[in-house]
Amino acid sequence: MSSMHHPHDETLARHAAGSLGPAASLVVESHLAHCSTCRAAMTDFEAVGGALFECLPPGAAPADGLARALAAIERGSPQPATPPSPRGKATRPALPTGVALPASLDNCDFGQWRWMAPGIRVSSAKAPWAKAEGLKLLRIEPGKKLLRHGHHGAEWTCILSGSFSDERARFVKGDFAEVDEDVDHQPVVDGDEECICLIAQEGRMRPHGLVGRLYQMVFDA
Ligand SMILES: [Zn+2]
Repeated sequence: MSSMHHPHDETLARHAAGSLGPAASLVVESHLAHCSTCRAAMTDFEAVGGALFECLPPGAAPADGLARALAAIERGSPQPATPPSPRGKATRPALPTGVALPASLDNCDFGQWRWMAPGIRVSSAKAPWAKAEGLKLLRIEPGKKLLRHGHHGAEWTCILSGSFSDERARFVKGDFAEVDEDVDHQPVVDGDEECICLIAQEGRMRPHGLVGRLYQMVFDA
């Protein structure tokens, strides 16, 4: 199966280089499980990374190809895409029948669903995923919409079940939605089943109005 909406090339490259950050990389991994197009693109990035690795001057050659080569070029600090230590059976909130979290989340604990707004619940990832990483599950009933909001920084979303639409497009299971500070939108669940999304944020949402800010306090808790 392949998706209609994909990560930006830069996002895939940063994921390949290990510089995207653990939470965002997990969202990308969730998309890759559904998307043969992006899996092929990742193969290309690995090939390019290998070539770049070969171009590095003697003495600057890092120990592993793509990740360190691109990281060296970016002068970034690669971060692990998975927790440093394997864990046992992960805890997670109850999911609708037929919905399963992607295998990339097997080592990631999530809390129980918390009420965020009418028809909208949120579950936050637990340690070792730091709160600052902003990895969450969002569960929205059919017909419900989020309050209009912008973003302080990038936000990466993979749709795990159901679908939603905003001013830009319609996103279905497996799709990847990527926004930055320039995007102001109001997603609405447009199908007849609940929409569950995996979200990583590098900054907070920027809600409009007092009600939005109150809901955000619940979301960030
Ligand atoms: Zn893709």
